[in-house]
Amino acid sequence: MTHKVDVLIIGGGAIGLSAAHYLQRAGRAVTVLDQKAVAAGSSSGNAGHIVPSHIVPLAAPGIIGTALRWLRDPKNSPFGMRLSADPTYLSWLLQFAAACSARNVRGAIPALKALGALSARNFSRLVRDEALNCAYNQTGLLFLYKTRAALDAGRHEAELLHQHGLPADVLDEALVHWREPAALPDVIGGVHYTGDASLDPARFLRALADRVIARGADVRENTPVTVLESAGERVTRVRTSAGDFEAEQVVLAAGAWTPQVARGLGLNLPVQPARGYSLTARAGVALPRQALLLGERRVAVTPMGEQLRFTGRLELSDLDTTPSPEHIAGIERAVREYLAIDERLRLVGTWAGLRPTTPDGVPIIGLSPRHKNLIIATGHAMLGLSLGPGTGQVVAELAMGKTPSIDLGRFSVAWNARR
Ligand SMILES: Cc1cc2nc3c(=O)[nH]c(=O)nc-3n(C[C@H](O)[C@H](O)[C@H](O)COP(=O)(O)OP(=O)(O)OC[C@H]3O[C@@H](n4cnc5c(N)ncnc54)[C@H](O)[C@@H]3O)c2cc1C
Repeated sequence: MTHKVDVLIIGGGAIGLSAAHYLQRAGRAVTVLDQKAVAAGSSSGNAGHIVPSHIVPLAAPGIIGTALRWLRDPKNSPFGMRLSADPTYLSWLLQFAAACSARNVRGAIPALKALGALSARNFSRLVRDEALNCAYNQTGLLFLYKTRAALDAGRHEAELLHQHGLPADVLDEALVHWREPAALPDVIGGVHYTGDASLDPARFLRALADRVIARGADVRENTPVTVLESAGERVTRVRTSAGDFEAEQVVLAAGAWTPQVARGLGLNLPVQPARGYSLTARAGVALPRQALLLGERRVAVTPMGEQLRFTGRLELSDLDTTPSPEHIAGIERAVREYLAIDERLRLVGTWAGLRPTTPDGVPIIGLSPRHKNLIIATGHAMLGLSLGPGTGQVVAELAMGKTPSIDLGRFSVAWNARR
């Protein structure tokens, strides 16, 4: 059986659902396919940080040395990587190493800044206009530091943000303890990114999915796409476990699975999965006031209404999403180094998710260079929630043949293929 549809979105995570929302607002009829459930998976158990302050890509000078140092302490390391001779993986690693340059950072900053700002604006409108109940909190993101060297690096980053017109307040010891009473005495300072926000990503995405469905979207869960067929300059058929689809426009937003779904289309989509973990507990007596980032340990802390979430670790991995008890215990240990939290946590759940990661730290968003009816939106790495509503808006603009609200040159599939 063949279904004929207007816009077919593959993937119902933060990117696919945001695209669905903005496409509907532009008057399009959307169908969303997901191999599992929508508003779940990698987009649901993350830290929920909305960070327009995050304008420096992961691929930056110095990161390889830092990563190698971290690998010497596998029990506590915020970073890990699989060993594999897979040529695609090795080529990605080489591309990543080549991208760790000041030139890459200079090129990426304007792109990430523009998309981050568009997205942050869209979040506040979405939450307000759609009345989304998702523990949205605009008190900013506070980095906590215990060592002079890390605080100095934080101060340096704050200066860089000032140069780009973004707010960041450096806090001394007294101020940081006033701002976050749950911080332990040996926290010596912090940086407060006052333009950032946080929310409960699962509640946000569930509410967004419900709105999209209420407006008539056909959302099909447990419907894996098996093959994309193309002829000439079009994707002609999308084969799934529940029949075939023919679409005016296809949006490919399958996160870390995107290269797998797109195989056979002749596109270069350098996206590798980077796994991370979270544990969620019932909010205890000692509750941090706001979203935090524990500087040296790279662990995120997010109060989400009645719950508290701790998130961390980046592992260049395979597509497995089984939570690792060992690394989740490491995340909890790291939190206890910085914060006075309850001695026994009332655990709600543990989780693992995959960041779809490009070598240069910039997402891939744009029309396929080979197919006139295919838009690709992936590679958002550690920012997929944060950049979701901005990405959704520009995807809708591309689908409508409009000039996108931000310059997409640096995000384009062709730019990625040139490297
Ligand atoms: C530990 C951790 C913490 C994070 N913290 C933050 C944060 O604080 N802020 C932030 O902005 N980001 C954060 N992220 C990153 C964020 O979670 C990701 O960038 C985001 O989930 C990517 O969204 P996506 O829609 O591209 O992919 P996904 O959420 O993975 O969605 C892709 C969807 O495609 C579906 N799919 C795959 N293959 C097929 C197929 N063949 N057919 C049909 N459907 C398919 C999948 O089932 C999935 O639902 C974090 C990630 C991790 C791991």
